[in-house]
Amino acid sequence: MMLTTLRQLSRPLRQRSPLALCVRGQQSRAASRPVEEERPWTGQETLAEDDPEMWALLRSEKDRQCRGLELIASENFCSRAALEALGSCLNNKYSEGYPGKRYYGGAEVVDNIELLCQKRALEAFRLDPALWGVNVQPYSGSPANFAAYTAVLNPHDRIMGLDLPDGGHLTHGYMSDVKRISATSIYFESMPYKLNPVTGLIDYDQLDATARLFRPKIIIAGTSAYARLIDYARIRKLCTEVKAYLLSDMAHISGLVAAGSIPSPFDHSDLVTTTTHKSLRGARAGLIFYRKGVRSVDKKGKEIMYDLEDKVNFAVFPSLQGGPHNHAIAGVAVALKQAQSPMFKEYIDQVLRNSKAMATALLSKGYTLVSGGTENHLVLVDLRPKGIDGARAERVLELAYITANKNTCPGDKSALTPGGLRLGAPALTSRQLKEADFVQVVEFMDEGFKIALDVKKKTGKLQDFKSFLLEDSETVARIAALRQRVEAFSRPFPMPGFEDH
Ligand SMILES: *Cc1c(COP(=O)(O)O)cnc(C)c1O
Repeated sequence: MMLTTLRQLSRPLRQRSPLALCVRGQQSRAASRPVEEERPWTGQETLAEDDPEMWALLRSEKDRQCRGLELIASENFCSRAALEALGSCLNNKYSEGYPGKRYYGGAEVVDNIELLCQKRALEAFRLDPALWGVNVQPYSGSPANFAAYTAVLNPHDRIMGLDLPDGGHLTHGYMSDVKRISATSIYFESMPYKLNPVTGLIDYDQLDATARLFRPKIIIAGTSAYARLIDYARIRKLCTEVKAYLLSDMAHISGLVAAGSIPSPFDHSDLVTTTTHKSLRGARAGLIFYRKGVRSVDKKGKEIMYDLEDKVNFAVFPSLQGGPHNHAIAGVAVALKQAQSPMFKEYIDQVLRNSKAMATALLSKGYTLVSGGTENHLVLVDLRPKGIDGARAERVLELAYITANKNTCPGDKSALTPGGLRLGAPALTSRQLKEADFVQVVEFMDEGFKIALDVKKKTGKLQDFKSFLLEDSETVARIAALRQRVEAFSRPFPMPGFEDH
């Protein structure tokens, strides 16, 4: 298999002039080519021609994305323009280093692409280039966080972040009772802060008290499963008192921040990290923003300057990464231009209205929401009062083409059968759903939850429950009927990024 491929690959390259390889000809069209004819491989073949097996898998995934309701709060549908930049010749270029200081030749174009991405990143969040800089090279959100920590911490320095079961992210230092899970907790000493189990809101008093004892060097303000706004000013005050950096990780909410629709972490933070593919709706990557200029003034009136720029850049490359993903940087730049448009502001405000509509519809059907509601793009439903759990609900919805993910609620013991389900509005809002459509989406989910409850009553453990869903004919028919209605509802909505659906 491998040998054939190599032989096919080397033969035409020797036979054809280099120029011929760059000319896009009709001969690359599958339709015009008789099946029997032996053609030299040129690299101009479409995916369908070159690798029908992979092409079929991609087609299935496109179909899956179009036929169902996408409620995973971290997902979105990236634009065709950004995907075009992502699937481009930029994939081919090595450019370790930074614009103007590369370890490879031929970087003049990618220099301009990276500088354009930096400029747009600052513009999108209305930042003064004298006060903020940005590194656009992190491969994704997790590497961005690790690089930001590496920039300002020594091994075993201390950090605090919201605990994973309370809505924080793995990279904020997660460790279980028995094991250090995230590399953040392996290489640094992490102490979590928690939600108030009664209100479902961040317990700022406990954070204050713990930080004064633990004396972390970084406090992270950021969440993956939290439906409320963060009080950055309050955490900033604490950080100043305990002399910690405030790192805000706005991965989930960066689209909302760019649109100016929720309070910005930049007003209070020293460092801000984000992903680019969640509510920001770009290519998959990460960004690190760092402060520049005066950090503080000492007792003698002397200005103490920030020194984050070199530290952050050094941490990303050469400490943690090699060649930047120029194709991703270009795809991010395209999205950052879109994020400055009135169209994007309109999109994000619709996300917020849709999220509210979803919360209101769930509450009116008697569901419980962690924190009682939402102020952002997601809601966290606590299904425990309804007698089911997130794992069972997630599975039934999945079979009915509704995609969401199980999530822990305050007080949950198990991460495998947690009580909650996390539901986000960004992806479906990109498909033009409005408030009334989200009320219908809640109707579909409600039917799914009822199936889950009925089956739970008749079955034992999770595995037994899952088998029953596929084997009990009455349940199979019930789910199929729901699935048909979900698909008929979903398909007509437009899909950004690709056409065939
Ligand atoms: C998604 C997320 C990340 C990690 O992003 P990846 O691109 O998945 O590595 C980091 N922090 C927060 C708060 C997130 O929600």
